[in-house]
Amino acid sequence: MRPEALFPIFKPVTVIKGIGPRLAKLVERAAGPHLVDLCWHLPSAIIDRRYAPQVANAEPGVVATMTLTVDSHKKPPNKRLPYKVYCSDDTGTMALVFFHAHEDYLRKTLPEGEVRVVSGKVEKFGKEIQMTHPDHIGTAEELTQLKAVEPVYPLTTGLTLKVLGKSIQGAIDAAPDLPEWIDAAYLAKQGWPTWRDALVQAHAPEDEAALEPLSPARQRLAYDELLSNQLALALVRLSMRRLKGRSIEGDGGLRAKVIAALPFRLTQSQETASVEIAQDMAAPIRMLRLLQGDVGSGKTVVALLAMLNAVETGEQAALMAPTEILARQHLATIEPLAQAIGIEIVLLTGREKGKTRQAILDKLANGGAAIAIGTHALFQDDVEFKALAMAVIDEQHRFGVHQRLTLAAKGKAVDILVMTATPIPRTLMLTAYGDMDVSRLPDKPPGRLPVDTRVMPIERLDDVTIAVKRSMETGASVYWVCPLVEESEVLDVAAAEDRHAYLQSLFGDTVGMVHGRMKGKEKDAAMEAFAEGKTRVLVATTVIEVGVDVPKATVMVIEHAERFGLAQLHQLRGRIGRGDRPSNCLLLYASPLTVPAKARLKIMRETDDGFRIAEEDLKLRGAGELLGTRQSGLPEFRMADLAVHDELLATARDDAALILDRDPELESERGQSLRTLLYLFEREAAVRNLRSG
Ligand code: ADP
Ligand code: MG
Repeated sequence: MRPEALFPIFKPVTVIKGIGPRLAKLVERAAGPHLVDLCWHLPSAIIDRRYAPQVANAEPGVVATMTLTVDSHKKPPNKRLPYKVYCSDDTGTMALVFFHAHEDYLRKTLPEGEVRVVSGKVEKFGKEIQMTHPDHIGTAEELTQLKAVEPVYPLTTGLTLKVLGKSIQGAIDAAPDLPEWIDAAYLAKQGWPTWRDALVQAHAPEDEAALEPLSPARQRLAYDELLSNQLALALVRLSMRRLKGRSIEGDGGLRAKVIAALPFRLTQSQETASVEIAQDMAAPIRMLRLLQGDVGSGKTVVALLAMLNAVETGEQAALMAPTEILARQHLATIEPLAQAIGIEIVLLTGREKGKTRQAILDKLANGGAAIAIGTHALFQDDVEFKALAMAVIDEQHRFGVHQRLTLAAKGKAVDILVMTATPIPRTLMLTAYGDMDVSRLPDKPPGRLPVDTRVMPIERLDDVTIAVKRSMETGASVYWVCPLVEESEVLDVAAAEDRHAYLQSLFGDTVGMVHGRMKGKEKDAAMEAFAEGKTRVLVATTVIEVGVDVPKATVMVIEHAERFGLAQLHQLRGRIGRGDRPSNCLLLYASPLTVPAKARLKIMRETDDGFRIAEEDLKLRGAGELLGTRQSGLPEFRMADLAVHDELLATARDDAALILDRDPELESERGQSLRTLLYLFEREAAVRNLRSG
């Protein structure tokens, strides 16, 4: 249960005076539904109202707060011209300018002969000093309440700074003092304020420096968020470790046979990873290990060996992929090897229905099938295993922690291996997986040639098709990737269909197509035709982004490459350069290129190192956007900016480990405060891992 101290800030924004349902919608869109979301909505700029010049020396373009005597109102001869109110001080006269003015209102707020304070941007219009629609008008007394420095917040259409500013102030006023959760010595060393003071300070910047992510208040809030993230992950991990595991130690028979049947030798890193996994499985605790390797680094074989370890003991294993294409791809790789060693594998995706599906379920339930490969169809309630002992989750950034655990629940003490294609920078790894054990495949299998990548404008399409034709004549197969059109699959498909028709007009029937709106069977047929070389050009939307493996394909054309993110381009390009022949990637762009788009294409041309690309991506985009966090299950941060706060993240990780080492149930006084912290950042799921959660 959420601690009572937090109740006031978990109320809906409508509790704020003046925020009815209509404004609430706008406030929600800008910040979020609860007061706490308003607390996290930090200013992006400031207006400094301390500048209080006299008329004669007021600088145009600067926000000024001026004390003036109201001299005269001048109503315009027609409505298109502005209404002016002339004011003065000892040094000169200026005009306050109002369009679409209400005379009554202006005469009331600016009565002739009286002194008023106005604040707004000073302008010079011809010789006249002006201020158009001042932000504030009032008596000297009223304006003493005006903040000297006013925070400016990111807004949304229809929402004014005044309304949002007031709402945020309301939220901060409602924020309670909370017991300290940061280690006292560390807090003192950093010189950070308390949580509530940090909140107040972050929303009351005195100068530009206070807006910096490294200002003490913002650092403190960022640390709080990172600590809650790391603590939550550590708790989940700790409770996983507590679950009784089982020692799984096959005799190596099946593995030896498979290794003998492989047309290649395992790389050193594949061997090392396999040993690490086998050790984890042999230990009587649950395995939760991440197998991280760039596209093409050879994760599938490692996963198969891990699954066979379980099969050797007479138990079952499952491999879950994020897409159907990928599940089939895994099946295609693994099935011939399985046949060679005489074990049965079944495929279960959304497409298996009726009797076929039932037959598959039966084999899983009675143990007839040793290995199941599938999509999230494997999660369905009626899928039962006779003895599931290990699960491989080919994550490709698409599953969340939750799903991992669902599959784990289908067996007793299931060991879990999560596979991910690299581009996750270290910092992000930490936030997504905490201290999960990691095996890496840093190098690609031997003999791979780097992909020659070129960037060119779409105007050179004719040259591109000529080059494509030439490589087809030398035996190459070609991926032709069509652009993303504003997140709309329908439009993506239309673009792909157009391109398909055009390329068919050049190359005839050798051009195939695969896209996300095709039926499963059609997709398979298209992929198969391409893999077998019946089609030589495959026009595709990004469905081929993950995992697809056709070594003959050595050319890739990506249209509108400027619209893709770096990670996505890297994933796409990873589809080629898999065989022993040189590969070419052509990135076609439409002008004009934005600065970040130009930077992305440059990086793609310079390197195919997944780690470097991931780091650059983090710098260019910020963590929130990286990999499309929402669908990926990676956490989004509101206070922390991983490009800046990476050192804080490392400290938070160490701190979380230390905390749970000393107080695994969070029962001490600090432990209680830390529970509040978890709720504050809405990580209550983690609290459930505590005995008295
Ligand atoms: P990914 O890590 O992207 O899943 P895969 O497991 O699909 O990579 O492997 C990519 C390709 O490399 C496959 O065609 C696979 O057969 C091949 N491969 C894997 N390991 C080796 C190796 N040690 N030597 C040569 N080729 C290998
Ligand atoms: Mg793969």
